[in-house]
This record gives sequence, C-alpha cells and structure tokens, in this order.
Amino acid sequence: MYKYTQVSDTKYVLSLDNHVEIMTALAAFCKECDIYAGAVYGLGAISEATFRFLDPATKQYVDKTFAEQMEITNLTGNISLKDGEVYLHVHVTAGRRDYTCVGGHLLQARINGACELVVENFEDGFLGRRFDEETGLNLYEFKN
Ligand code: FE
Repeated sequence: MYKYTQVSDTKYVLSLDNHVEIMTALAAFCKECDIYAGAVYGLGAISEATFRFLDPATKQYVDKTFAEQMEITNLTGNISLKDGEVYLHVHVTAGRRDYTCVGGHLLQARINGACELVVENFEDGFLGRRFDEETGLNLYEFKN
C-alpha cells in the first residue's frame, strides 16, 4: 500500500502505491508506526476524490465526488486519536486539467500517478477528539 523511510526522530517520508486510496493508506501507516498525534502534508496525482463541505447553519454535510484526473496541489492535515482509533483530518486542494482548482475536507481519493507525503509524529503529545454539539464537529480535546 505504501513505502516509507524515517528521515529523523520524528519525521517520515511516504510514497503511496499507485491506485490506492489515500486515507486508507495513511491510516494504515499511522497504525503501523504507532502515530496518534501528528501532522501530514504532501502532494500527488489522483483520478477521483470525494470532498465534504459542512454547512454551519444546518450542520449538514454535503459530499461531492470529482471523477477526473487532478493534481493534488496541496494536502494538509493532522493526526489524532478518537475512540481508541487513529483519526485523520485532511484537507486537499486539487488542480484540474483546465488549471482551476477544487478542494475541501477529504473523505477519499484514488491515486493515479504518485502520492508523496511527509508525516510528523508528535511522539509524547496527546491529541484527542470529541464531538462538539454546537459546531457539529469532532474538535480537539487536550489533556492539559
Ligand atoms: Fe475538515
């Protein structure tokens, strides 16, 4: 699903395999390396992606899938812990063939080409999550 190398005490560089789904591969990597607090950034090329938009007025999610070849011009996100599992919060901006961009909160994306990520492990830090009624979001929950 991916290859990786550890480049410092806290940083890893990942090369995801072609045609894998990015969120699935990233979650598997975090589990393998025991990373439950951290950050991720990267780029790549994809043939399909589903973005999520939360309407703050209604707290309703609107999901939209783009089935076309796109360049990930930016992927940025964070890694935390919710209900004992790795919790990924990732946003993506993707460039289309006509050089316009679409983007949003990433639900899933299929690689078609390459995807190169840097993952930083916050090691002893604790980043929890809890559902917040007011915003309808899973917000950070810190120990201190
Ligand atoms: Fe988000």
